[in-house]
Amino acid sequence: EAEAPARPGLLGRLMGREAAAPVVRRVLDDEMLESLEELLITADLGVETAVRVTANIAEDLYGKRVSTEEIKRALAAEVARIMEPVARPLPLYPSRPQVVLVVGVNGSGKTTTIGKLASQFRAAGKNVVIAAGDTFRAAAVEQLQVWGERAGVPVLTAPEGSDPASLAFDALGKAQADGADLLLIDTAGRLQNRADLMEELAKIVRVIRKKDPDAPHNTLLVLDATTGQNGLSQVKTFQQLADVSGLVMTKLDGTAKGGVLVALADRFGLPIHAIGVGEQIDDLAPFDPQEFADALVG
Ligand code: GDP
Repeated sequence: EAEAPARPGLLGRLMGREAAAPVVRRVLDDEMLESLEELLITADLGVETAVRVTANIAEDLYGKRVSTEEIKRALAAEVARIMEPVARPLPLYPSRPQVVLVVGVNGSGKTTTIGKLASQFRAAGKNVVIAAGDTFRAAAVEQLQVWGERAGVPVLTAPEGSDPASLAFDALGKAQADGADLLLIDTAGRLQNRADLMEELAKIVRVIRKKDPDAPHNTLLVLDATTGQNGLSQVKTFQQLADVSGLVMTKLDGTAKGGVLVALADRFGLPIHAIGVGEQIDDLAPFDPQEFADALVG
């Protein structure tokens, strides 16, 4: 019988071909712990978190003969424990409408995520309005209109190049007049000009607060799983630009496992409201810490 190939996941790389045979045991020694730490770092957990996770595993298992399955379970349990407190769906407020500002770099999946969110809330009986606030990208506006049609949700737009804050103001006015439950506001993601973007986001916030002092109720940062460790700097940057209240990680349906989320949870504790698992309208799932941890350790 042909030997099963080594598992491609983290543990496969740690235990080599033995990983294919979970009954094989090895003593968990310093060398193995060091390899484990390195693997966690390459999986985007960051040094600090990787060191801590490894130390916690060593506390229980150091010097013991362990199987691949045992290490895997211990590792997944550690990761799930870190992620548990941040797994929280988007909080809903009685405000009418609840205003959700969506930020993130271009290409991260903002537009797609807004379409998916709109569809989900629509399906839950909510009255949703979308504002196409990235007025400088005609393609983004067109794409949002397509998503709005799919979701059965109106999309408010403004002429190309016009002031996003003024669109957001009008959109909130209309959403209020219509008694909408939720207003999703798309924003620009041009990080090349940070000062401009900061002013643009600040102005949107300033202006919508004239209509509702509590708006925006949420500021969602959309992160792309394939950017790896870069997610960390994106969170830092957007926290400077806006008052980020939660995250959505997209593209977790591919090979990227989103290990950076562990570092983010560990360091910032920002709630993860949902994950993107595909390009279709229903491909938005709640964040499940155990499922995420299991996929990460592979
Ligand atoms: P934006 O520039 O931030 O608005 O990003 P878009 O919403 O236009 O998304 C950029 C690309 O990523 C598009 O091709 C989307 O189909 C794709 N995308 C978005 N979310 C996901 C996801 O969860 N999984 C996959 N596989 N692709 C996604």
